[in-house]
Amino acid sequence: MVLRDTTVERHNRTHRLVNQMPARKTGRNTTRRDKHRRIIANGLPPSRFGKRPPCWHCGEPINYDAHYTDPDAFVIDHLIPLSAGGEDVLDNIVPSHRRCNSDKGAKTNWRPGVCYVTERRW
Ligand SMILES: [Zn+2]
Repeated sequence: MVLRDTTVERHNRTHRLVNQMPARKTGRNTTRRDKHRRIIANGLPPSRFGKRPPCWHCGEPINYDAHYTDPDAFVIDHLIPLSAGGEDVLDNIVPSHRRCNSDKGAKTNWRPGVCYVTERRW
């Protein structure tokens, strides 16, 4: 019984420690993202785009002053999603409208530079 109590106590202690640990994953590296946003929006090196570039997906101008919830607002978009193993580096980041970014999110087979025309006969 003594042994069992000790084990339970250790178990509880471990869980308490886990719960006290800082949530490191929260916000997925926002500092880095903010830096990328700034570089892309201002066309700073090593950005491939000019200052306040248009949307990479639709080519329309982005409203850089829009509220971040606005569909026309500026977001940085990962060409290869991080969830698909894409890297969080500028080479993998393009300027996008919020709405264009969300549109892409649903397409799991989306790849940069590839046009998915399936019905066309050449
Ligand atoms: Zn767009």
